[in-house]
Amino acid sequence: MSIEMICVYCGSYPSPDPSYLNTAYTFGQELSLNGFKLVYGGGINGMMGKVADGIISQNGQSIGFIPELLLDKEGGHPGLSELHVVDSMHTRKMKMAETADAFVVMPGGFGTLDELFEVVTWCQIGIHHKPIVVMNVDGYWDHLEKLYHHIIDTSFARPDHRNIVKFTTSVDETIMHLKAYNEKKRASVV
Ligand code: AMP
Repeated sequence: MSIEMICVYCGSYPSPDPSYLNTAYTFGQELSLNGFKLVYGGGINGMMGKVADGIISQNGQSIGFIPELLLDKEGGHPGLSELHVVDSMHTRKMKMAETADAFVVMPGGFGTLDELFEVVTWCQIGIHHKPIVVMNVDGYWDHLEKLYHHIIDTSFARPDHRNIVKFTTSVDETIMHLKAYNEKKRASVV
């Protein structure tokens, strides 16, 4: 199965350094320009809102899942192709993960980490086999990348699980990785 629907996990906090917000906007644009669609938490603020703004600016497809209790706090994005208001955080996470063909993590806070670790651990136990990319923009995730390898180096996770997460450093590298995954899939079918 080729990947088309990209789930982006990233920060909801409204005011990180503008360079992160610009990268989020660019990533949204590039997703659309390269034929991908977005699924995310449906919010209008912070990195989340910027990724959505970027894809919308290129007339790309976007789906948001937002829990009713966060509608006021995170603000549902009015420009999405589809915005689904769901009953709980768990439903939101499940719907996002089910809808996605691949996951990309951009800079974010504790909610972003929660979402990342859930899909990593689900992959470890075989619930899914979807690609997971952490985009380490401007070294934001350096400590996470070190910790990830430390967990494996100290045998708290299996060596073959090192490849569950691909760390990239830029929008271009992330898009290249997603496209390469599809090309590999196509080649294995021919
Ligand atoms: P943050 O990275 O903390 O800005 O959060 C990113 C997104 O994750 C926001 O949409 C939060 O609502 C969401 N989030 C926060 N905590 C959790 C959690 N425990 N489970 C799932 N999503 C969460």
